[in-house]
Order: sequence, then C-alpha cells, then structure tokens
Amino acid sequence: MIRIGVSGAAGRMGRTVIETATEREDVAVVLAIDAADVETVADKPAHDPADVPALLSTHEPDAIVDFSVPDATVSLADACADAGVPLVTGTTGMTDNQVADLKAASEDVPILKAANFARGIQALLETVRAAACALPGYDVELTETHHNRKQDAPSGTATTILDALAEERDFEETYGREGMQPRQEGEVGVHVRRAGDVRGEHEIMFAGNDEVLTLTHRAEDRGVFAAGALDAAVWLDGRDQGLYTFGDVIEG
Ligand code: NAD
Repeated sequence: MIRIGVSGAAGRMGRTVIETATEREDVAVVLAIDAADVETVADKPAHDPADVPALLSTHEPDAIVDFSVPDATVSLADACADAGVPLVTGTTGMTDNQVADLKAASEDVPILKAANFARGIQALLETVRAAACALPGYDVELTETHHNRKQDAPSGTATTILDALAEERDFEETYGREGMQPRQEGEVGVHVRRAGDVRGEHEIMFAGNDEVLTLTHRAEDRGVFAAGALDAAVWLDGRDQGLYTFGDVIEG
C-alpha cells in the first residue's frame, strides 16, 4: 500500500480521488491540501498549500496526486522535488513555461503529467494515429464538450489528441468559425462546448471520399480519471526521476 497526499482535495476531482482511494487497498490518503476555506474534506483535515514543504516532511507521503490549478501545480512540483516526493498531476491549462518548470522539477523527482487519466483516451490516441495514416487527405474536425465550470479551452485532452495527429500529418488549427470563413485545405477545426455537468466528451471526425469516420470518447463519471491517477501513483512508486505520461503506465 502506498500513502498519498491529494492536492486540490476540495475540488471536484480531488474529492473523487479521495472517495475512490477509500475503495482500494493499494492506496491510503494521508494528506489533503487545498486553498479553499474548508476545515475538512471527506473527514480529513484540509491543509493550506503554503504549508506544503513542512507537510511533506511531517506526513511523509509516497506520492502526491494533484488536480488543482496550474500555478499551484508548479509550486507543488518544486516542493516535491525538494522533498523527494513523486508527483502525479492531472491539472490542465498550463503554459509552455509552466510545463518547462515541471520538467525542471522532474530532474530531481519522478513526475507524471497527464491531461486525461481515462484508459479509453489512450486507446483513442492510438486509433487517431492509425486513422490519420490510413486516411490521408481526409478533413479532420475535433469537438470537445465539458461542464460549464471548466476554466481552460480547448481541453488538455483535445490538445493531446492534436499532438497525436501532428505525429502523422501537418495541419493548422482553426478554433471555431464565424462569418465568411470557408475551410482551408489541411486545416483542423477545433470546437469547444461548455454545458451542464458533462464530465468530458471528445469527438474526432475524419471525412472524405464519400465516407465519415467518427471516433468518440465519453467519460461518464469522474471516477474513471481518479482511478487512472491512482494507478499512476502506484506505478510511479520506486521509479527514477523524469517526466512520465499516462501512456507509460498503460504500456507498463
Ligand atoms: P475544481 O475547481 O473543482 O478543483 C480545483 C481545486 O483546486 C479547488 O478546490 C481549489 O480550491 C484548489 N486549489 C486552488 N489553488 C490551490 C493551491 N494553491 N493548492 C491546492 N489546491 C488549490 O476543478 P476540477 O474539476 O477538480 O479540475 C481540477 C483540474 O484537473 C483542472 O485543471 C481540470 O482540467 C483537471 N482535470 C484533469 C483530468 C485528467 O484526467 N487529467 C480530469 C478532470 C479534470
């Protein structure tokens, strides 16, 4: 069993991670961290992020699982690097500089960063690469839908899907269309919807030659992300320093 701390513990994902962990025998939550003004989360005392360096040495977690906000994740990564505590983060919306900071911290400690901890998304990425190879010249459009409180757009998962596509073909992204804006050859349209409590839906369409292939992934419960993040924390235990992906976990 590994002992984990949860950062962003009072958030939608943080609470789900804690709930999911209580149903498993390979992880135990020993530390909850959140900037929100709450005393407890799921019966655990909620700690101030300002105290993270001290908390890491008093609670001695084997890993931190983080679903918070980009600035918090960068500070947390620095503290984890100093304390030698591995970090799993699912926080999205990071700038290139913030990702570079995370990479720098991963020179001292193992860090696993994933925009999506659903296993189905890993299969989708493989399928997108295969479809891009098999369907050269087909028009590609990507649509993602998330709940109405999501901050960043397009989603980190949409960006990951575009990265997978870019491994197989060159394209320019077009974010939405308005007015007289005909499709340009080779462009990929990216469309963002925010509504209700949708956990996360990604659809990629390949169209051409009188046929349409549509690949869709839908997360139906946040538990799927929490389970993947906890699997990642278990997998990260005992690894060398470095920046890992969820794909590394799936490949074993
Ligand atoms: P949320 O707003 O419900 O929760 C974020 C929490 O972070 C809040 O409770 C907030 O108080 C807390 N926070 C703010 N500053 C903090 C700090 N300095 N230290 C610790 N906690 C702090 O958001 P959410 O829906 O739980 O999503 C959180 C992040 O996870 C987002 O970036 C989201 O896109 C991402 N996400 C990733 C996956 C995945 O599979 N990788 C899945 C779902 C959500």
